[in-house]
Amino acid sequence: MKPISSTLKTKVQRLGLRTLRGEKAWEERAADIMPGGVNSPVRAWNGVGGHPLPIASAKGATITDGAGREYLDLVDSWGAGIVGHAHPQVVAAVRAAASRGLSFGATTEAEVELAELIRERYEPAQKVRLVSTGTEATMTALRIARAATGRDVIIKFAGCYHGHSDGLLVAAGSGLATSGVPDSAGVTASVAKDTMVLPYGDVDALTDAFAEHGSRIAAVITEAVPANMGVVAPPAGFHRLVSELCRNEGAVFIVDEVLSGFRAGPAGGWGLERDADIAAGREPWTPDLVTFGKVIGGGLPVAAVAGRADLMDQLAPVGAVYQAGTLSGNPVAVAAGLTTMRLLDDDAYTHLDRISTRLRTGVSAELDAAGITHAVGHAGTLFSVFLGLDKAPVTFDEVSDQDALAYSDMFHSFRSSGIALPPSAYEAWFVSLAHTDEHVTRIVEAVKTWGGREAKQP
Ligand SMILES: *Cc1c(COP(=O)(O)O)cnc(C)c1O
Repeated sequence: MKPISSTLKTKVQRLGLRTLRGEKAWEERAADIMPGGVNSPVRAWNGVGGHPLPIASAKGATITDGAGREYLDLVDSWGAGIVGHAHPQVVAAVRAAASRGLSFGATTEAEVELAELIRERYEPAQKVRLVSTGTEATMTALRIARAATGRDVIIKFAGCYHGHSDGLLVAAGSGLATSGVPDSAGVTASVAKDTMVLPYGDVDALTDAFAEHGSRIAAVITEAVPANMGVVAPPAGFHRLVSELCRNEGAVFIVDEVLSGFRAGPAGGWGLERDADIAAGREPWTPDLVTFGKVIGGGLPVAAVAGRADLMDQLAPVGAVYQAGTLSGNPVAVAAGLTTMRLLDDDAYTHLDRISTRLRTGVSAELDAAGITHAVGHAGTLFSVFLGLDKAPVTFDEVSDQDALAYSDMFHSFRSSGIALPPSAYEAWFVSLAHTDEHVTRIVEAVKTWGGREAKQP
């Protein structure tokens, strides 16, 4: 099975036009006017086959398509819908903000409150700049790191996704090459050469890279919990090592929490490790810069770059690093984010933890009962299921050995059971505050109904 890889996110294949009765018009209109019929590639279902209908609405844990079919949603707008779709308090806050004005192009009190709330829950975020997308956040973090260090080279890990800026759409070069190669058409070799791509969790590769090129490395960027190749638990001690190498060589450690932030746990993926360190009597490591997105917008476009005050003050108008955004900190979007964040109290995380634990263990037990080889990758409330693997993967190569065809078969069987899985084997399964024990039971039942028809047997 060839990996679908990050190319799923970077290449749009032509959307075919197999239609169900009554759906033809929309599919044709979408494919006619938008490349692949979508505004973001994964929505075209190239990873699982078949053709998605436009979505009409969503409420709580349920999403409804244009034909009126309802699905229990395990995508939750890729994690942003953490409190459940159209939460009444979030909708009310958005309405109220909209009625006060959609955009001012000037600072509002709510932006200050959201930034303070982020710092309160995530101490390394000493200063915060709000932007509109995760892509902007990571792109800006790299620019700050390069300005602060006067160096060019960035290290990223294969299988980690950091948005679609040129310097981060880079794949590992062949053999011992230390510079990356473009992972998307349109990215130039001259940009790619400044990004080194290493296997995730590979201590030797990282130590060697620093030994050989330490004085050229501006930053290491990694997902706090890799969750864009399925969910991969960071190997014990890996981030601490990255942090030490960066500190010793004067490089910046950028922790991308766009997906995991305020989702994997109350202080994201970093918070899980901090708590484990404190419990073990170790001094926690800290990121220099961190990026947020998804949850902090609660379904509207808010993202952030944050971190050490001296690094953040590199940004204009204080420092010499230019960054700007017409709609940055948009008041309607910030109202959604702030209300969502306030709903995420201790009880909320207890619920997310309990439901996600029941779901991943329940699904795994049912797959076992059906004799289907699988592994579950998990960190905090984040998890995904890898069919055809007998142990949780760490590197992208290991992830790519999964049985993506079996996943596709499971995906379509789940649709028939009224459950919307992520349309790719390389994505996390997302739960929300609206997911209940009864929903977990339904999802586990769907595994039984599927029965693993196309799964590789051991
Ligand atoms: C989603 C994501 C991004 C990109 O965010 P956009 O808002 O889609 O630009 C960056 N990093 C990670 C870890 C993500 O999951």
